[in-house]
Amino acid sequence: MKRVALAFDLGGTELRAALIDDAGSLLSFSSLSTDAAGGPAAVIRQIEQLAETVLAETPGLSPIGIGIGAPGPLDPDAGVVIAAPTLVGWHEVPLADILHGHFRLPVRLENDANAAALGEWRYGAGRGAESMVFVTVSTGIGGGVIADGRILHGRRGLAAEIGHMTITNEGERCFCGAIGCFEAVASGTALGRRATARTRPSDGTMLRKLAADADVTGRHVVEAAREGDADALALLTDEARLLGIGFTNLLHLYSPDLLVMGGGISHGFDLLHDQMVMTVRERAMPAYRDVPIVAAQLGRHAGLIGAASLIFDDEGNSLTKLN
Ligand SMILES: [Zn+2]
Repeated sequence: MKRVALAFDLGGTELRAALIDDAGSLLSFSSLSTDAAGGPAAVIRQIEQLAETVLAETPGLSPIGIGIGAPGPLDPDAGVVIAAPTLVGWHEVPLADILHGHFRLPVRLENDANAAALGEWRYGAGRGAESMVFVTVSTGIGGGVIADGRILHGRRGLAAEIGHMTITNEGERCFCGAIGCFEAVASGTALGRRATARTRPSDGTMLRKLAADADVTGRHVVEAAREGDADALALLTDEARLLGIGFTNLLHLYSPDLLVMGGGISHGFDLLHDQMVMTVRERAMPAYRDVPIVAAQLGRHAGLIGAASLIFDDEGNSLTKLN
């Protein structure tokens, strides 16, 4: 009998569900726009509705548990969403208990960035590593740390808030209120902001053409760089240098076997790689300089697959205890 888990990825804009087997494959998938303004009760109804949809697509399969990735801060042990900034009314919501009450299955809750890190570690680019740092670079910067064979949680599950480590003392203010956060200077949003500042509407540059004369995004920069556009390539060189500075800190702190980069900006991974590595080689102490920096492999489903892995890992642990 195939072991399968029901997995959810609760985002501020999209709520996704899948039935996933213990090889990390999606057997069925469905998603909805999150009713982020509707409060917890409305979103929990959406979760139940999605569960029905994905289970109906795979008749005969019964999940052994439910894994869910949700925005932090959250308490993974208690299964409580503490205060999700993108979801109205989500304060101290005991989501694991609520879902357990409805589905009568074991429920595991994890921070969404940690869930994606777990997915890449168990089934993606980090397979076989004892220690791994996962960094997702898109609108913001987030990530998770696998240290000595387990996810690093820290006090209240708040460890590895990678996007808000300070890497400079100048520049734009981060939404968190501080200056110089990794996210504020090196996210896709920051890259787009630099590209927008460097160009003007209707100036004939490839960046503005791709943006249809609106603000340039990080994705446009990657796209233009791929066409060989000199402005875009220069912007990506700066971007890679900033990412390399942040990555150097992470290598010094966690000494991973490898660093995995995901998120929207990792579509330009091949264009960023050499400069990121060069920056790490310039700045890291010698013992850390040869740590591979690799692209994530699971794309947008990393969080769902990682959430499911929580259930399979739990089962493995309880079996070990019985033996
Ligand atoms: Zn910040």
